[in-house]
Amino acid sequence: MARHTVTLIPGDGIGPELTSAMRRVVEAAGVDIEWEVVDAGAGVVEKYGTPLPGHVLDSIRRNKVAIKGPITTPVGTGFRSVNVAIRKELDLYACLRPAFSIAGSGARYDDVDLVIVRENTEDLYAGIEFAEGSPGARKLIEFAAEEGAGTIRADSGISLKPISIMASRRIVRYAFDYAIANGRKKVTAVHKANILKHSDGLFLRVAREVAAEYAGSGVAFEDYIVDATCMQLVLHPEWWDVLVLPNLYGDILSDLAAGLIGGLGIAPGANIGTECAVFEPTHGSAPKYAGKDMANPTAEILSATLMLRHLGETDAADRILAAVRATIGAGVAVTYDIKRSVTGSTDGCVGTQAYADALIAAL
Ligand code: NAD
Repeated sequence: MARHTVTLIPGDGIGPELTSAMRRVVEAAGVDIEWEVVDAGAGVVEKYGTPLPGHVLDSIRRNKVAIKGPITTPVGTGFRSVNVAIRKELDLYACLRPAFSIAGSGARYDDVDLVIVRENTEDLYAGIEFAEGSPGARKLIEFAAEEGAGTIRADSGISLKPISIMASRRIVRYAFDYAIANGRKKVTAVHKANILKHSDGLFLRVAREVAAEYAGSGVAFEDYIVDATCMQLVLHPEWWDVLVLPNLYGDILSDLAAGLIGGLGIAPGANIGTECAVFEPTHGSAPKYAGKDMANPTAEILSATLMLRHLGETDAADRILAAVRATIGAGVAVTYDIKRSVTGSTDGCVGTQAYADALIAAL
């Protein structure tokens, strides 16, 4: 059996307890992994002067595969998101977030099986922002007026939404290639091209061009406006297959999709580039649950199954997924979020590590 070296970033908040549960389950499944543990986030700023030290990125570049727990981003002030910085630095352009029903999760639906493919490098997440009253904001306001592009109020803060042909083309190609490789039947490009003609309009135009290249591939193509997509996702989640979206819509619809399947605690994710891949749950660091052995590690563990498939360890990934389905399906050893969704009360729930023990027993 091959030995894999994987970078492990425990993260903060609930991250360390979830990654420790994930690690135990992966090891119990018999995969031979050497974990290179490195830290990032607010906790390392004092030591390294930055929340994302160079050696963390070097470790991921060297190993090509990483798995992480969530990392807290201060709101409004302080450093920019470490999670976004990792994706940008390593050009992890495709964010893959499968959402599938797990019987016993207490979700409102039992027939969801869709995949969100979110563009990960640009759009309003580019981080190009101008503070209210700054010289940059003033110049932009003057520029927009001179160009006849429109009036921006003088007391505005401004965030730019760049969407390029290059990034749109590669993410839509990724969505089609993923659909073909995984036996999927349809790719839906989601946008607001009726209003945002030069950003989402470009995304849609490129998506149609790419779809034409894949004509005859057996994967159908359609496009949908983002607000209508939200409503139809809630009304008919079973309609959807692979959805490809610009960054911000992808972020928002990932949480919506997580809600369809029973919550953030069971929604996995992956950030994939041409060189490296970083696996992480959709959810954040849920600080109010940190250190309480309460949070659901399923999203982290299912992110590990995506990583195992990426590493070619399909059998272990299948067995872990089956153990998750069996354990949540049995409803005996489940965390508070699932217990509450199923019974309306958290009575009888188990903690993070006890749930991981149940998974290990079910492997
Ligand atoms: P969050 O996802 O941390 O929490 C939202 C709610 O979801 C929580 O109150 C909790 O009820 C529930 N939840 C989340 N994960 C859960 C789990 N594993 N088990 C059970 N319940 C769970 O979102 P937030 O509160 O908006 O963000 C907290 C911090 O996390 C912020 O600093 C944010 O920037 C950061 N964040 C990080 C990532 C990442 O690391 N990739 C992603 C999203 C948010």
